[in-house]
Amino acid sequence: MPSYDVVVIGAGSVGCPSAYFLARRGLKVLMVESRPACGQGQNKAAIGGVRATHSDPAKIQICRQSLDVFSSWKEEHGFDLGWKKGGYCFPVYDERLEQTLKNLVEAQQRYGLNIDWVDADRVKDMVPGIEPRGLRGGTFSPDDGQVSPLLASEGFRRAGVALGVEYRFNEPVTDLVVESSRICAVVTTKARYPAKMVLVAAGAKAKAIGAMAGINLPVTPDSHEAGITAPVAQFIGPLVVDLRPGPEGRTANFYFGQNNEGQIIFCYTPKKPLVGEDRRPTSEFLPIVTRRLLTLLPRLRNMVVRRTWRGLYPMTPDGVPICDRIEGIDGLFVAVGMCGQGFMLGPGIGMNMTSVMLDGHPEIDPDVFASLRYDRSYEAGHEALK
Ligand SMILES: Cc1cc2nc3c(=O)[nH]c(=O)nc-3n(C[C@H](O)[C@H](O)[C@H](O)COP(=O)(O)OP(=O)(O)OC[C@H]3O[C@@H](n4cnc5c(N)ncnc54)[C@H](O)[C@@H]3O)c2cc1C
Repeated sequence: MPSYDVVVIGAGSVGCPSAYFLARRGLKVLMVESRPACGQGQNKAAIGGVRATHSDPAKIQICRQSLDVFSSWKEEHGFDLGWKKGGYCFPVYDERLEQTLKNLVEAQQRYGLNIDWVDADRVKDMVPGIEPRGLRGGTFSPDDGQVSPLLASEGFRRAGVALGVEYRFNEPVTDLVVESSRICAVVTTKARYPAKMVLVAAGAKAKAIGAMAGINLPVTPDSHEAGITAPVAQFIGPLVVDLRPGPEGRTANFYFGQNNEGQIIFCYTPKKPLVGEDRRPTSEFLPIVTRRLLTLLPRLRNMVVRRTWRGLYPMTPDGVPICDRIEGIDGLFVAVGMCGQGFMLGPGIGMNMTSVMLDGHPEIDPDVFASLRYDRSYEAGHEALK
C-alpha cells in the first residue's frame, strides 16, 4: 500500500476543499469517505448561504477567504458552482433589534466588512413584496452570496483529482493507528492506508473518529429542516434572515433566498435544539415554515414546494468550530464542529488548515485563528449570529 502525505477523512464541506488546497501544495493526498460520492453528508443539506458578515473575527476572516474562492471559481476553473452574489439582508421590525444590529454593523465595518444599515424602501426594493407594515429597514451586505453545495463539492473534487488527489468512496474509517505518539495509518473497511498526516473532517461523526485516536472532540449533532420550491424568474436578490422568533413558539430565526436557478430555498432554526442524528423529515416543518414565509412575503403563496429534507449541524458547545493540530499525536489534525456554517467556512478552513499542516501557522492572523483551538474552554455564548 503506498504511503500518503495526508489522508483526509470525510468528503464534505470541509474535506473536499481541504484535499484540493493540500494537493495544490504538491502533497500526495488520499480522501476516504464512507458514502458513495462527495458532498453526501451534511454538505448537501446546506442551503448554500455564504457570508462573511459574522460577529466572530475568525469566522469573518475565514469566510472572506471562502467568498474569494467561491466567487472566482468559475473564472479560474471553468466550472460553475451556482454562485450568486445577491448579498444577505436582515430585515428589522422592532426598535431593540434595530439597535442591536446597528451596533453589530459598526463592529463589522471595523473589520472591513462591506455591510450597512439600509432604510425600509431599500429593503422593499431588494425583497419585492416584503411585509411593509412596521418595517424599519435592515442590514445589507452586498458581497455575500449563495452557492450550490453539491456543485461546490464536485468542483473541489474535480480540481483535486486533476492535482492527483485519490478519492475512495464507500470506505468508512474504522480505526486510526497511533504509534509512539505519532499518527501512522488510517484503517477503513477495505484497507489500511499509511500516512504522515491525517486531517479529520468527518462532520457529525467527528466524535467517533476522535475516539479512535483517544481524543474527545465535543461535537454533538442537532437537526434542522429545509425545503426548496420549483424555479420562478429571479425576483429576490439577497438571502433574507428574519431574526424574530416565530409566533407559533417553536421557531427562532428563519431564512430564505432564491438560488441562481430561481428556486426559493428556505429553513428555520428550531427554538429548542433537536439533538441527535434523526434525519427523517417531520410533518410540522412545512406548515410552520410556510406560515412564516407567507406572513413575511405573501407573494410566495402560489409557489410549488418540490421537496423538504432534514440535516444535521455538527455543534460544539460554544458554536465555534475546532480547527487545530492535536497536541501529543504528531501528524493528527482536526477541522470539525462547523455548526450551521460549515459550507461557508469550508474553503477558508481548507486554506488555513493546509497552512497549519505545512507551515505551522494559519493564513489568517494566528491570534484570531487561536479561537478555534481544541484545548479552549468551550464556554457558551461566543457568537452573536450563530
Ligand atoms: C438545513 C440545513 C441548512 C444549512 N445551511 C447552511 C448554509 O446555508 N451555509 C452553511 O455554511 N452551512 C449550512 N448548513 C450547515 C452545513 O451543512 C454544515 O455545517 C457542513 O456541511 C458541515 O461540514 P463538514 O465537512 O464538517 O461535514 P459533512 O459535509 O457532513 O462532511 C463530513 C463527511 O465525513 C464523512 N464521514 C463521517 N464518518 C466517516 C467515517 N467513519 N469514514 C469516512 N467518512 C466519514 C461523512 O459521510 C461526510 O461526507 C446547513 C445545515 C442544514 C442541516
